[in-house]
Amino acid sequence: MTGMTDPAQVHSSALVVDTHADTPQRFVDEHWNFTDPLDGGMLNYDSAKKGNLDAQFFSIWVDPNQYGANASARRTLELIDGTLEQVLKAPDKLQLCTTADQIIEAHSRGKFAVLMGIEGGHSIEDSLGLLRDYYRLGVRYMTLTWSNTNNWADSSGDIDDATIKHHDGLTPFGKQVVQEMNRLGMLVDISHVSDKTFWDTIATTRTPIIASHSSARALTQAGRNMTDEMLAAMKKNNGVVMVNFFPAFIDEQWRLAWNAQKPERQKAQDAMEVDYKAKGLPVPYNASNKTDREFAVKIGRAPFNSLIDHFDHVIKIAGIDHVGIGTDFDGIPVPPEGIDSAADLPKVTAALMARGYTAEDMRKLLGGNLLRVFRDVQAAADKSK
Ligand SMILES: [Zn+2]
Repeated sequence: MTGMTDPAQVHSSALVVDTHADTPQRFVDEHWNFTDPLDGGMLNYDSAKKGNLDAQFFSIWVDPNQYGANASARRTLELIDGTLEQVLKAPDKLQLCTTADQIIEAHSRGKFAVLMGIEGGHSIEDSLGLLRDYYRLGVRYMTLTWSNTNNWADSSGDIDDATIKHHDGLTPFGKQVVQEMNRLGMLVDISHVSDKTFWDTIATTRTPIIASHSSARALTQAGRNMTDEMLAAMKKNNGVVMVNFFPAFIDEQWRLAWNAQKPERQKAQDAMEVDYKAKGLPVPYNASNKTDREFAVKIGRAPFNSLIDHFDHVIKIAGIDHVGIGTDFDGIPVPPEGIDSAADLPKVTAALMARGYTAEDMRKLLGGNLLRVFRDVQAAADKSK
């Protein structure tokens, strides 16, 4: 089979999965619906349709700085509710999916597949019972940490902060969390974790794992990007690495500019928060995101080719069977040049095919690899029950 050669046709006929978007904050804080106009966001139903995005893992992310350790579960449940309500409000367009087969079935019926992943192990408040409850509600992955080290896993986000109590990777309970996720059939997600947590996870898991939104450290020095050794380990694990679109993770120049802005940006964030704190209210996500965006646009857009270089590099090291898309839409202040919303995803396919990737390669990258891992993880869970 020679296969298709027209990138537009390849993209529109593929099943496209994105494993990370922070849109649920909008559902809850802004009472914004997925079928509404974009209104400053990067992802909605119309842009997904235009970009032939078929399935989205929505990030259930609780800001540990705003909600505190003891309110993580409440906020987690509200975000899950906000996402599930979207499906109830537009049942003709959206379908909740909790298995790989359901994604394929939703796609065949012309429905957008809604999935959920928790971003940050602090959401379980050190309880395997809560982890199981989230699974029962439909959550199908969890990043072991966000930018914060929790009570059982170190994060890359604060690994150099001596004031934080670290664990040298995963604690014995952290390993239990990984094992319980394996048993349940929940994807173990290593985006955001420290290097040692990554290696402890690789040694602990008995099923393939994912990085829902991580790029390559060989190209861009961000501490939460993956080294070539990690990418090779993901290949050996038969997992999948989804490339993140954040300019600070895909373009070294942009990252340096972003880091240089940090003190000034933090000052602006603190000033913005004063009002909310005075009222005893958590700072809405869109407010802090807006501040970040104001600073990001001062730097300008990162070159589109920097993003494509990251796909290329992950494929070179981990292989075409271990790469995918994890945009981080609505969680990043600005995407790279040429990407304004999910409607622009066909450009990624066109650019990669221009570099020689085939239709079959693209079908793997756009969604096939994630579906394979999802199926493997759930099959392994069923066997152990
Ligand atoms: Zn993230």
